[in-house]
Amino acid sequence: MAVLLDGDAVRAWIGGFAVSFREARGDLDELDRQSGDGDFGSNLLSAIDRVERELEGAPGAAADEVFATVSKAFMHAGGTSGPLFGVWFREFARASADAGGLDRGGLARAVSGGLAAVQGLGHAQPGDKTMVDAIAPAADALARAGAETREPADDLADAAAAARAGAEETAGLIARRGRASYVGEVSRGVCDPGAVAVAMFFEAGIRTLAGEGPQR
Ligand code: ADP
Ligand code: MG
Repeated sequence: MAVLLDGDAVRAWIGGFAVSFREARGDLDELDRQSGDGDFGSNLLSAIDRVERELEGAPGAAADEVFATVSKAFMHAGGTSGPLFGVWFREFARASADAGGLDRGGLARAVSGGLAAVQGLGHAQPGDKTMVDAIAPAADALARAGAETREPADDLADAAAAARAGAEETAGLIARRGRASYVGEVSRGVCDPGAVAVAMFFEAGIRTLAGEGPQR
């Protein structure tokens, strides 16, 4: 299977995610403030700053090495979401290792493995109003795409659309996990910031494949 994303492409993907995350940081903090404590964007931005510093010092890194760097940086970040994103990106590193990059099968394995890892650590189910509500539909979309012969970009587009729809649906839910679960009905009407960040990650991937570079 052809490699979908090599080291440089993954670096560009992460760079694009960093740009859009930095721009959305205030909004993400605000979502978290309305249903938690308001530190989500700031927590993850500290990881993203670290990623950028470390990748600058590692030119030519392979796809799995780039994802491993990202995983480690998130592991070190504060808050509940840091380690959850850490295990999520670790599955992308694993899925990129054998083929020398991320191919269609690797993307599907990364997302389904990432879902299992996030659930293993945080024990959230779909509907609990967490990042799982964006990841699970993306994993389903990729599993449905299965062996179909088609452009890898279509897989990412499907995953992104499913993740974005899942993130938006979290607005209708009451949180049952994390700090947002302490506020009950107050969290209804507010999207879960972790789910929004997952959608942003896939959307940055689409732009990378379209050759748009790390802009928003
Ligand atoms: P906190 O301030 O509660 O320590 P963060 O603000 O860093 O956590 O992250 C909040 C995000 O973490 C939520 O938007 C949600 O997506 C995610 N999250 C919280 N708990 C869980 C969990 N048990 N499983 C999956 N995701 C979770
Ligand atoms: Mg928080």
